[in-house]
Parts: sequence; structure tokens; C-alpha cells
Amino acid sequence: MVEGKNRQIVLVSRPQGEPTPGNFKLTEAPIPAIGTRQVLLKTKYLSLDPYMRGRMSEAKSYVPPFVIGEPLGGGTVSEVVASHNPKFAVGDIVLAFGGWQDYAVSDGNGLRKLDPNIAPVTAALGVLGMPGLTAYTGLLNIGQPKPGETLAVAAAAGPVGSAVGQIAKIKGCRVVGIAGGQKKVDYLTGELGFDAAADHRSPRLKEELRAVCPNGIDIYFENVGGAVWDAVFPLLNNFARVPVCGLVANYNATSLPEGPDRSMALMRSILTKRLRVQGFIVYDFAQQTEDFLRDAGAWIREGKLKYREDIVEGLENAPQAFIGLLKGANFGKLLVKVSD
Ligand code: NDP
Repeated sequence: MVEGKNRQIVLVSRPQGEPTPGNFKLTEAPIPAIGTRQVLLKTKYLSLDPYMRGRMSEAKSYVPPFVIGEPLGGGTVSEVVASHNPKFAVGDIVLAFGGWQDYAVSDGNGLRKLDPNIAPVTAALGVLGMPGLTAYTGLLNIGQPKPGETLAVAAAAGPVGSAVGQIAKIKGCRVVGIAGGQKKVDYLTGELGFDAAADHRSPRLKEELRAVCPNGIDIYFENVGGAVWDAVFPLLNNFARVPVCGLVANYNATSLPEGPDRSMALMRSILTKRLRVQGFIVYDFAQQTEDFLRDAGAWIREGKLKYREDIVEGLENAPQAFIGLLKGANFGKLLVKVSD
């Protein structure tokens, strides 16, 4: 039995529009006891991801909503601190789904042991984890990049977008990133070696994007929607592919945008330009995880796949960090350091 308290962030109300600190509450519960074959996990790092906004609402989706009054769910890097499961020993570091709390109980299913000698453990929540797999599978299966094609990606400085752009470079594409603010734009063309970048906060986004895509766009990896999609749409070439991965610009929206209704213009372009627009959820391609880990691991070692992390200290700061994520306050994979 581990002594002490289990701090938890619970959802106390569903956000209407942008989440506010009042939607969350820090509470304390006893540290749970473990039963047969169970392990007790102490959270080291909690991953904050845009999909969590969807789970805060009650709308029907591909995963059930978070439950009011219970701790929010989320991917974690955790340490086994007590074990009744022969597969896990005290001291093992695992990738888990421990949630927004200090301690969680698991029966061992779905846990993946991490070796800190192979890669920093935090990478399992980012470039070598769910966001990296999203980028790899969405791009390769749906985007189908070919040498010489132009790829554009939004939220390009984040974990999904930055991996998409770099993998597309590895596959021989010309890569254009779209991000918010000069610092992120400079990071894309400097550190990550993208061919060009545009700032979606610029009032001249449409013109600036057109200028850096002189041959149009063959693959648009959609992470954002909104004004970025409006700027990209006219630039799509015949037979362009659009993996629809996320629409983060709309996650806080409470209604559809004001008219006019442009769905027929979209359908017309899909028809006349023979566009392929396909949504996907990362677990559609879960069977490609091993290929991904092999390829991404090699690219990281070769210096072709770089990543950046934005680590916030303290579980109590998770709500504010999450609110910022939906507005681009993060610069890199957003993580909360919960314990040493
Ligand atoms: P990021 O860390 O990149 O965070 C989201 C980013 O979106 C922000 O940093 C911000 O970057 C950008 N953004 C927010 N609002 C706007 C806006 N109005 N216009 C333009 N950009 C905006 O997140 P991830 O890399 O984890 O996720 C990227 C996308 O991928 C999200 O839409 C997410 O939901 C989706 N996703 C989908 C998965 C799937 O299975 N389909 C799995 C994982 C992620 P900036 O400062 O550049 O504006």
C-alpha cells in the first residue's frame, strides 16, 4: 500500500466554446489499493492533446465523452510503484493511459514498457507515440507522397504537423508549413528544413501561401480547418489528396460558421479536380505501429526527424496549458511534468 494522496483534475462542467479554468477542479482522493494482477502507476508525464476537447463535450463521436466529476483521461508516461502482475516490476517505466492524476491502477493491458536508454521516455507521447503514428500513417496511406510533389501542412510546428512535414521531405516532397507567428515559421524553415512556411495569423495569408506554392498543392494534410483551409482550397491541384486529421480551429465552435454555404463549391472541386479527401483516426492504422517505430526510430537517429517538446511543470497547471493548446500557446508537443 502506497501512502499519500492522489491529486486528480476532474471535469466539473462541459465547456461552452473555449474551456475556462472553472470547467476543471483539482481534488484529492486516497491512493487506490491494487488487486490481483494489477499495478499501481505513478504519473511522471501527462500528454495534453487537442482530441481531449472533443471528449469534454457530449456530442456523439468516435470515443465516449469524459464523465463529469471524474478525472480526465490522457496518455501518460508512468512508473510502476507497486505490482501484483508478474509482467511488471516496481521501477518499470511504461506508456499508459493514466489520466490527469498522480496515480492510476492498471491490469497491465495496453501498457508498453519504455527503455530510457533507447529514447527519452517523453518521446513515447510525441514523436514516437500517438502523434507520430498519426503523422506517419495519415501521410503515407492517404497522402501517398511522391518525389517532386508539393505538400502543405498546418499546425506545422506541433507534433503531428512537424512529423508530417519532415517525413514528406524524406519522401522527396517540397514542403510548405503553416503555423502561427514568426518564431514558429522560422523554426520550420530553419531547424526543420521545410522549403517554405506561411503565418496563418497574417491578414495576407491567402496571397502569401499562393506565393510559396507556385506549382499548387498536391497533398494538404489538414490539421486545422477554418481560415487555413480557405487559403489552401483554391491551390489544390488535380488529383490532390487531403488526409483530414484534425480541425482544431473549430474545436471550440458552438455552431457552424456563418454562410454562405460553400459545400457545393467543395463538392464541385472534389468532382472536377478529382480530389481525394479522407478522414482518419490514428487507430485505423494501429497495425502499422511496428513499421512506424522502426522507421521513425531510424530517422531520429539519422537526424532526419527532429522534435520539440513544451513541458509545463505541475499537474495543477494542466487546465491552463490545455486551454492554451487550442490557441497555439504551445510550441512543440505539450506535456505536463507531474512528478520527478
Ligand atoms: P498541436 O500541438 O499542433 O496543437 C494544436 C495547434 O493547432 C496549436 O499549437 C496551433 O498552432 C494550431 N491552431 C490552433 N488554432 C488554430 C487556428 N484557429 N488556426 C490555425 N492553427 C491553429 O497539436 P497536435 O499536433 O497534437 O495535433 C494536430 C491536429 O491533429 C489536431 O487537429 C488534432 O486534433 C489532430 N489529431 C488527429 C488525430 C487523428 O487520429 N485523426 C490524432 C492526433 C491528432 P499554431 O500556433 O501554429 O497556430
